[in-house]
Amino acid sequence: TVSFFWFRRDLRLEDNIGLFHALKSDFQVIPLFIFDEAILDSLPKDDARVGFIYETLSKINSELNQTESSLLIKKGKPRQVWQGLLEEFDIKEVFFNKDYEPYAIERDESICQLLEAHQCITFSFKDQVIFEEKEITKADGLPYTVYTPYKNKWLEKYDQENPIREYDTSQLFSNFYKSNFDFPSLGQIGFVESSIKVQAYELDNIDNYQETRDFPAVDSTSYLSPHLRFGTVSIRKMVNFAAKTNAVFLSELIWREFFMQILYHFPKVVTQNFKSAYDGIQWRNNEEDFKRWCTGNTGYPMVDAGMRQLNETGYMHNRVRMVVASFLCKHLMIQWQWGEAYFAEKLLDYDLSANVGNWQWAAGTGCDAAPYFRVFNPEIQLKKFDEKGIYVRKWISEFDLGYGEPMVDHAFARDRAIATYKAGILK
Ligand code: FAD
Repeated sequence: TVSFFWFRRDLRLEDNIGLFHALKSDFQVIPLFIFDEAILDSLPKDDARVGFIYETLSKINSELNQTESSLLIKKGKPRQVWQGLLEEFDIKEVFFNKDYEPYAIERDESICQLLEAHQCITFSFKDQVIFEEKEITKADGLPYTVYTPYKNKWLEKYDQENPIREYDTSQLFSNFYKSNFDFPSLGQIGFVESSIKVQAYELDNIDNYQETRDFPAVDSTSYLSPHLRFGTVSIRKMVNFAAKTNAVFLSELIWREFFMQILYHFPKVVTQNFKSAYDGIQWRNNEEDFKRWCTGNTGYPMVDAGMRQLNETGYMHNRVRMVVASFLCKHLMIQWQWGEAYFAEKLLDYDLSANVGNWQWAAGTGCDAAPYFRVFNPEIQLKKFDEKGIYVRKWISEFDLGYGEPMVDHAFARDRAIATYKAGILK
């Protein structure tokens, strides 16, 4: 008789709440990861995120080997995998951490039904966030759709618990099930190594975060995003650190939770405008223009540098993400869903809630979004945030003072965007 702990987007042994509780249970624990075919089948074979997951799992497995246990890796559709596991093992309890995306919620409901039908008890835990969707609400119980009051309530609640408890799992490792499961090669999972790698996160510069974070050439942000996405770092540790170190940095971590609760309460935002009054906008959606944006050939250095950085590394600085997103929606009048899908394909830190939330923010269609008549000027953004052209030179090898011809004139595009939005917004 055994318990299972099912890893999903919490790929660490340290300070992992679900794992902590599993290891405290009465049965020995088999740690499991499922490569989900429903997700993998749509990805290119050299997807860097799959490579990162694989590498992380290898490290976890090596750590487990030191306690004479090992990770059980399966590949398939999660329900079928669990059906097989129920035949193979006498499973009494299954532990996992909650995931708030619509696909994950449906998957987990279906698996819990299956497990419970086999007299297996399931336990789920809040691990991915400090406060989940129903913990931070307005006085009337409705969700916040504006960031600042959400943040104030979040901080108020955090202050009552500061610091948030971290969970020491290391003393409990003897409760892992002794095993030596085969660890597959990346090829056996159907993938090959990518040349793009997730870089380690960096907290040394956070002291000056509020002064440096907007300057892509300074490169001073934390690079935490893929680590928070896949749970290779604990959000509790990061928030406790941020609360001691830098309030602006902490507020960025709160943006992450803000968009997560928006996605939970308004799952339509995945494909539709949060503000339905914006549904009438006549997008141009020109395929050629889109291609020039994707490949970084718009003639605007900051836009092109950003897109090239994304294509080459799977990362783009936040200031530049705002500029390229605004450019796509406002200068080219291409609907945000196209840009969101392109980012989803390329970003190592791609996270549905943050991606959709920020894209809708840039398009003006989201909750608490920038007003539609505010159109970023990519030249002014360059002057303000990369005055010496250090960032753009890094990504545009042919950059010089006379770089390119803008594919569309800024003043023309700005007027067109404002007029098109104005005409399209439903009264
Ligand atoms: P830091 O500045 O060090 O921030 C620390 C952490 O705070 C980040 O790792 C992230 O978890 C969180 N954070 C910071 N800014 C935001 C924000 N605006 N919204 C939500 N969380 C934030 N972030 C993603 O994690 N995944 C995405 O798919 C994603 N798509 C985006 C799309 C667009 C159009 C824009 C404008 C932003 C997007 N962001 C996304 C937010 C932000 O750009 C990245 O989180 C940030 O650049 C990651 O780098 P960092 O970890 O060094 O950030």
